[in-house]
Amino acid sequence: MEQTLIILKPSAIQRALAGKVIDRFQQKGLVITGMKMMRLSEELLREHYAHLTDKPFFGEILASMTACPVIVMALKGTDAIKVVRAMTGATNGREAAAGTIRGDYSMSNQENIIHASSSPEDAEAELKRFFRPEELFDYSPVGLPFVYNKSMN
Ligand code: ADP
Repeated sequence: MEQTLIILKPSAIQRALAGKVIDRFQQKGLVITGMKMMRLSEELLREHYAHLTDKPFFGEILASMTACPVIVMALKGTDAIKVVRAMTGATNGREAAAGTIRGDYSMSNQENIIHASSSPEDAEAELKRFFRPEELFDYSPVGLPFVYNKSMN
């Protein structure tokens, strides 16, 4: 099964939406394999958003992502990376489809509630970036046979 990385951004924490977002993932059948609160450093954000450091709004990303602590989560499931991206919705909350997390909770391009890994390569790098190996837990919830069939499909 795949694992993917989620960040509940300061917009989720300050607007008290963390519980609602976590609930959506659990209700979907994704398994929480890691979760912690942390403050993001500029150094970590420059690495995480390396594809955006040249953008004129990068300073705003830094300010937004360091406004308060965030919650980082690892989620496990068949095709978890693609499933979680679909649940996340388009970057701009105003354009994200209704029913997605950003579509339901965000009116902003930047204050868009969560980050979610966008590819298997990114997920692997991001899980290592935010979690030590001993902070990720491999277990199977007892309800799993009712989420998937025997071949985890
Ligand atoms: P996504 O988070 O959907 O994977 P990107 O990797 O392109 O999108 O951007 C990372 C984050 O940078 C976005 O979630 C958003 O918070 C911020 N961002 C992206 N584009 C803009 C923009 N044009 N203006 C302000 N913030 C932006």
